[in-house]
Amino acid sequence: MDLARAWVQAIAAAVDQHKDHLTQLDSAIGDADHGVNMHRGFSAVTAALDGYDPDTVGALLVKVGTTLISSVGGASGPLYGAAFRAAGKALDAPKATPQELAAALAAGLDGIRKLGAASPGDKTMIDAYAPALAAFQQQADSGADLTTAALAAAQAAEDGLRATAPLQARKGRASYLGARSIGHPDPGAASAALVFRALADTAATR
Ligand code: ADP
Ligand code: MG
Repeated sequence: MDLARAWVQAIAAAVDQHKDHLTQLDSAIGDADHGVNMHRGFSAVTAALDGYDPDTVGALLVKVGTTLISSVGGASGPLYGAAFRAAGKALDAPKATPQELAAALAAGLDGIRKLGAASPGDKTMIDAYAPALAAFQQQADSGADLTTAALAAAQAAEDGLRATAPLQARKGRASYLGARSIGHPDPGAASAALVFRALADTAATR
């Protein structure tokens, strides 16, 4: 539970720190609001979690998701909102094992895919999230602890982010640019990499 709260706080801090960079990425292939959207969302999340002390990790994450959906206008709010809500619904305990967290992260990815209908390679947040999940899952299945699994996931997310640059966008606003979306990393993949790096940093300091 403490870890989940600390993770969300670390995401909020990372978004705050990298807000301008996320917006810059979105100005190249979108409408220059991704940093603003994420910042608005996680500021609302920070406020919503203040004094909210549920019994399960799941309830906390569901609250994060609901808050993102209600506070962010852009596509990323409902998508991350769906992810946190689905992940939260999969976690019904005060603490999660790495395997339980892997299952919750998988449910989160399903939530994004159900809502946004994007596939790997479409140049979206999924291109960072899916490889991160795969790396996390593989570590958890082989008995690794949370810190090791989260570190592998963060590295895979960052590799996935870099790999979005040569892709042509097939979903979201960037897809309107057609071939002109090629050569730029995807903003949502960049924020997803922050989310997984925040998990790794949080796990490493506990
Ligand atoms: P908007 O596109 O409404 O301005 P943001 O700028 O906040 O919203 O978020 C853009 C990011 O959302 C993209 O970089 C991409 O990663 C992600 N995204 C957009 N559409 C989809 C989708 N259908 N499925 C998954 N991710 C998507
Ligand atoms: Mg945008």
